[in-house]
Amino acid sequence: MTKKHPKHAIICGSTIDIFYVDSVVADDGTPCNGLSDSDNGWIKIDKNIPEGILQDTFLHEMLHILICNSGAYQLFLNSKIKDVDDFSELLIRILTPHLKSLMKEALI
Ligand SMILES: [Zn+2]
Repeated sequence: MTKKHPKHAIICGSTIDIFYVDSVVADDGTPCNGLSDSDNGWIKIDKNIPEGILQDTFLHEMLHILICNSGAYQLFLNSKIKDVDDFSELLIRILTPHLKSLMKEALI
């Protein structure tokens, strides 16, 4: 990550808007550090949390979107694989190029 508080990230080819807001509340009303919506392409981060936690939260929410946009989420839903090692291997093969891209050039 080259920018401290990026406003956008490209994840699996989709531009994701990143908003730094005063508070973040999950659908069930629980306050949280961050939230993401892969369908609508946004991440919200509580701007009042400490910098170190903010970076973890940012990465956490980007991974949620990466899991969805890469097809890994759908793979899990459709998977008939029973062996966790086989599933793990497949998941890693799907995610590796996306993670590589995310680390190198995703932030704009
Ligand atoms: Zn989460």
